[in-house]
Amino acid sequence: MIYYDKVSKVYPDKTVALDDVSFGIEPKEFVTIVGHSGAGKTTLMKMLIAEEWPTDGAVFFESTNIHKLSKKEMSKLRRRIGMVFQDYRLIPTKTVYENIAFAMEAIGRNDAEVASDVPHVLELVDLGHKIWNFPRELSGGERQRVAIARAIVTQPDIIIADEPTGNLDPVNTYEIIRILQKINELGRTVLLTTHNKGVVDTIGGRVITMERGKIVKDDRSGRYIL
Ligand code: ADP
Repeated sequence: MIYYDKVSKVYPDKTVALDDVSFGIEPKEFVTIVGHSGAGKTTLMKMLIAEEWPTDGAVFFESTNIHKLSKKEMSKLRRRIGMVFQDYRLIPTKTVYENIAFAMEAIGRNDAEVASDVPHVLELVDLGHKIWNFPRELSGGERQRVAIARAIVTQPDIIIADEPTGNLDPVNTYEIIRILQKINELGRTVLLTTHNKGVVDTIGGRVITMERGKIVKDDRSGRYIL
């Protein structure tokens, strides 16, 4: 479904963020990409939504070279990818309901669809009781659950969660991982990046270890070797 073919990325200041990276991801896989800060994880994820261009190599989505898509085709592909970030990126002046509604409206869903889907997706992340609260009234873990709800409400095929637990304590971290696993069980592909050993131990599953822009291990049984 996704294939990185000998991808390298050298930033204009000559930083080598990715160095000849090749690997594939099958539909419905749960893949954790682990590595120290600066290893290249975020750059790797940005390639998938064409936020960064490879210096060498190519990234394929269902056999299409992502970086050769037209603007229109790219925006169509982006709708199939839900993003979750370490800093949540919620709109502070909107309620939980409005934050999620906003993502649906952006892709043309009508009021009736919004009214039926938002409560449903909030139940999935156990936050139905916070629907009318503002982000500032929520804990970090709750904010991240809203961000996940927003990412999945448009029913993307792939969820990219880039360091989603970076600001969270162990209890909330576990909760976020559990929710991502549940989403994966519902049939979505999940790509998670983390530098946290505890997170990797919790998940099991396939773990790709990165070091200085290279994949140094691709382990289907989920062990952390840094
Ligand atoms: P990670 O997500 O594993 O922390 P990144 O992909 O963010 O790694 O970064 C990989 C390397 O590329 C780091 O050395 C980082 O400083 C560098 N880098 C990231 N973005 C840029 C940029 N826009 N310009 C120059 N260097 C960058």
